[in-house]
Amino acid sequence: MLTLFNTLTGDKEPFQPITPGLAKIYSCGPTVYRFPHIGNMRIYLMSDWLRRALEYFGCRVVHVKNITDIGHMRQEMLERGEDKVIAAARAAGKTPLEIAQYYTEAFFLDERKLNILPAQHFPRATEHVPEMIAIVENLMGQGYAYQSGGNIYFDVKGFEGYGRLSGNRLESLLEGVRVEADTSKRNPEDFTLWKFAEPGREMKWPSPWGEGFPGWHIECSAMSMKYLGEEFDIHTGGVDNIFPHHEGEIAQSEAAVGHRVVNHWVHGQHLLADGLKMAKSTGNAYIIADIEKRGYDPLAFRYLCLGAHYRSRLNFTIGSLKAAQARLLKLRKNAALLAGETGGVGSRSPRCAHWELEFGQAVADDLALPRALTVLWRMLKADLSAGEKLWLLWEFDRVLGLDIKGWLYENQKTRRDVQEPLKERKAHRESSSFIEADQLREMIMATGYEIMDTSEGPLAIRNPYLTMGAGKGGAEPVSSSAEVESLISEPDGCEFSVNLLAHDNFPELKRCLDSVLSWSEGYDLEIILVQNGSLDETAELIEDFSVVHENLRIIDADHYLGEAAGRNVGLKQSCGKYVILLDGCAELKGDVFGPIRETLADEKVGVTGARGVLTEDLHEFKDAPTPRVDAMLGYCFAFRRGLLSEVGLMDEKFRFYRNLDLDYSFQFRDKGYILQTTPDLPIQIYDRMDWAAMPQDERDRNSKKNFYRFLTRWHHRTDLLKSKP
Ligand code: AMP
Ligand code: ZN
Repeated sequence: MLTLFNTLTGDKEPFQPITPGLAKIYSCGPTVYRFPHIGNMRIYLMSDWLRRALEYFGCRVVHVKNITDIGHMRQEMLERGEDKVIAAARAAGKTPLEIAQYYTEAFFLDERKLNILPAQHFPRATEHVPEMIAIVENLMGQGYAYQSGGNIYFDVKGFEGYGRLSGNRLESLLEGVRVEADTSKRNPEDFTLWKFAEPGREMKWPSPWGEGFPGWHIECSAMSMKYLGEEFDIHTGGVDNIFPHHEGEIAQSEAAVGHRVVNHWVHGQHLLADGLKMAKSTGNAYIIADIEKRGYDPLAFRYLCLGAHYRSRLNFTIGSLKAAQARLLKLRKNAALLAGETGGVGSRSPRCAHWELEFGQAVADDLALPRALTVLWRMLKADLSAGEKLWLLWEFDRVLGLDIKGWLYENQKTRRDVQEPLKERKAHRESSSFIEADQLREMIMATGYEIMDTSEGPLAIRNPYLTMGAGKGGAEPVSSSAEVESLISEPDGCEFSVNLLAHDNFPELKRCLDSVLSWSEGYDLEIILVQNGSLDETAELIEDFSVVHENLRIIDADHYLGEAAGRNVGLKQSCGKYVILLDGCAELKGDVFGPIRETLADEKVGVTGARGVLTEDLHEFKDAPTPRVDAMLGYCFAFRRGLLSEVGLMDEKFRFYRNLDLDYSFQFRDKGYILQTTPDLPIQIYDRMDWAAMPQDERDRNSKKNFYRFLTRWHHRTDLLKSKP
């Protein structure tokens, strides 16, 4: 029937359900105190396709997807910097359970929007604590678990198979686990089954070991076995669940029942954005609402995911989403034409068998859906009748889940809105009043319909995205700095290039830009403003600037590229003899251009600016009292453009701005240039808006991440410091 890769064996294996004709699947579900991002949704799409494939092959499926509503909230808040959401909900007087309920519903809505079939059971962790306690008691009774410091731990050394799934040997685990530094454990790799409730904790339950709450892995052992029995077929999750979550789950479940519980472990690869795993904490996560806001149909994301095998990483870009949406629309139009010709009724014939076979083979080959999709497109072009094509399309969509039927139905329903103008247009065409006919066509399109003239007459296709933001007008927005043309080796085109970044910061940006405009008179200057994926009104408001200021150029990024990549877009497009990077939070209070030019006239000087710092050990940085500095602060960072080809662009791993200026400064030092501030440069610095809006823990986390990035690269280069001649 179906071969499926099994993480446990590292092989593709024929899938054989324990009970013939019935597949039992357990999927690790969402943690519900934030919106799931589309990377999370990719995993739920994978389990949906798996379920649909099994059903397509005639297997009944029982699907269980748990809801993790025991956020280990306090801990995770700190770890993931998500206290904003919880704080907001708390401020609104909500309990953790109400918060969980809110995000559970949001999750269900996202699943519906992606046409994911609802699991038959969505067990909530909070409603299964007694089952978890029972397993912990069982493990205690058998000697697999022990109590220490008020907590119950699983004794990993007592379970022989530990490490089988992830391939992690105990010895090599020690490193990774040690960070927890929990001194109550016998062995550092032991994991928590039950934790005592610290004072003030809201979510807690009575247990034989006092009030407390369960560990994360035990949830899934308890709920999977409760709904699917002590032996079931398939367990799914993302690859980051393999260790420690699923490794722990196997140990607990198998120790408790004394035999193998799950036959087949299926893990989906990550969705990336800007080359990094999508995660809220990385700042590269999109939620379904984000893509809708940009004018995309969530089903276009489903289509996009069909284009990559579930065991391959997939790098998400708005550009690829746009392409997927175009393909999906094309598919829908095809369906509308076929439905128009056949009255919506497909017809199976012996000629279909060949296509069914080819499609089925792709699906059965470890869910090779990209291949299955190409079979669909070839079928639509093949020499088949409209009825046959339609029948096959309905069949294939049972697996693909693009809900073409649902779309057609909606389209037919709403088409009534344009019946009248369509009729009128037809009359104009018949009387050769083509100008009037075309005007009507435009009018119909403006209401969100495309018109296709078919042999059966005109067909209106609802395409609400025609009237929405996606890809509307102007130059195409960029998705990465790599796709921006580099002018670095071109001759100078003006004297100064002032580079600005816009990202949800209109008020400060306007103040900065106004000051540049008022102090740059008489200079030959261009302003390059990279609109770095703003989601608020900033993007719209700055469009007006370019109308007023002819030497201002806006380059639009279709999402937040990160600080360094956004800067690189501007750097690649600059053509001034001098480049000045300004932060939105800076305001010019006088002429800076003349003084900067003067400092940079000295060929030894690589970078100048308003403020710099000194360090002796690369760990501590102090404001510099003298012009010579070790690093220039990014508020104002100016250099000769000619140096770019030697020094290079910024390191795009810096998505957050802090310490990026240190890193870039050292690139100039590394090439032998000195860094020298221009004293008394008339610039006033305010707090950055993004910084001011960021909670303390997030500030710390982001800053630390960037600092280590800087340190890893430069820690051995104390020779570059001013204090070391
Ligand atoms: P969570 O809500 O954090 O428990 O995550 C839900 C699911 O999403 C888990 O199966 C994770 O493995 C998976 N996941 C998390 N990040 C990504 C990503 N960037 N791409 C794909 N799956 C992910
Ligand atoms: Zn789980």
